[in-house]
Amino acid sequence: NRRYHLAKRPEGTPDADTFDLREAERPEPGPGQALVRLLYLSVDPYMRGRMRAGESYAEPWDVGGPLYGGAVAEVVESNGAGFEPGETVVGNLPWAEYAAADGSELTPVDTGELPVSTALGVLGMPGRTAYFGVREVVEPRAGDVMVVSGAAGAVGSVAGQLGELQGADVVGVAGSDEKVDWLTGELGLTAGVNYESEDVGERLDELTDGVDAYYDNVGGPVTDAVFQRLNVDARVGICGQIALYNEEEVPTGPRKLGKLVETRARVEGFLVGDFAPRFGAATERLGELVAGGELQYRETVTEGLENAPDAFLGLFEGENVGKQVVEVADH
Ligand code: NDP
Repeated sequence: NRRYHLAKRPEGTPDADTFDLREAERPEPGPGQALVRLLYLSVDPYMRGRMRAGESYAEPWDVGGPLYGGAVAEVVESNGAGFEPGETVVGNLPWAEYAAADGSELTPVDTGELPVSTALGVLGMPGRTAYFGVREVVEPRAGDVMVVSGAAGAVGSVAGQLGELQGADVVGVAGSDEKVDWLTGELGLTAGVNYESEDVGERLDELTDGVDAYYDNVGGPVTDAVFQRLNVDARVGICGQIALYNEEEVPTGPRKLGKLVETRARVEGFLVGDFAPRFGAATERLGELVAGGELQYRETVTEGLENAPDAFLGLFEGENVGKQVVEVADH
């Protein structure tokens, strides 16, 4: 049983030295626990926060301790955990091949016709983040111009499509022409901007008469450009700030906040966990939209537990399209 541990707290951008792959015993499930075999592991931007000792919305990982993440797993053995061997479950599990987990911490996976990996993506935490963020925070209305940053990622790709379904004209901002083509093609967004090769502000001036709704996944210069183009009564949802996660000192802030006075815009941060009592309904609705062909999704699958660090680091390089997962075992 191989398992990843945190070798040290990274300064700036993490690298291979941040991760330590160890041989561990296959755990024995205690009372109320199940032994599970991991099938898919999720790597997520928020994990960068857990590598830090300082404050973050998730508990810091211990140096030397195992890394954890959302994972889909198969029950191998149950010691009164309430599951049968062979059942597929999702939970917060170590980056490992096998783990022992409390039955109360595991949820059965029911993704219907879709692959079980979608329980980590469009039908999992990222999909639900987009669902509540769009519907209850950003609240795009018919005819609104809505901008989504990080638009080709796990959360952003769902958020942009939900914006279009609510009648907004969505402009997706992403880091390559291939991603922009995907957004305006298969996903049906109104327009796309490649922030790596284009001036985001200039392009927004060409494409829009200002921004009514902004779903922000990245922060940094993209967000600076969008803020200066907000319209009266704009709504901004701050979902994440990945452009800044590896910065030891934040280089600039959105300093020209006079724009918010002028426009009476509302800026609101949110955490998906706050909507937990309604996760079931959200997942059901997302499943219906996918089944009905109204919501497209993509996954970037990296094979092998040993490649989990590369998959995680790739999030900061934009190597993923849609949800990045690691396939730990065949199933
Ligand atoms: P993604 O699948 O979007 O992966 C990260 C993407 O961010 C990359 O593909 C890359 O795409 C983009 N990116 C990386 N560095 C930069 C940069 N410097 N500037 C602009 N874009 C960059 O991840 P998720 O969908 O899982 O997460 C998206 C955001 O949502 C993150 O900020 C995350 O922390 C946040 N989040 C918040 C939650 C909440 O409850 N509030 C819950 C889940 C996620 P590109 O090629 O376009 O650069």
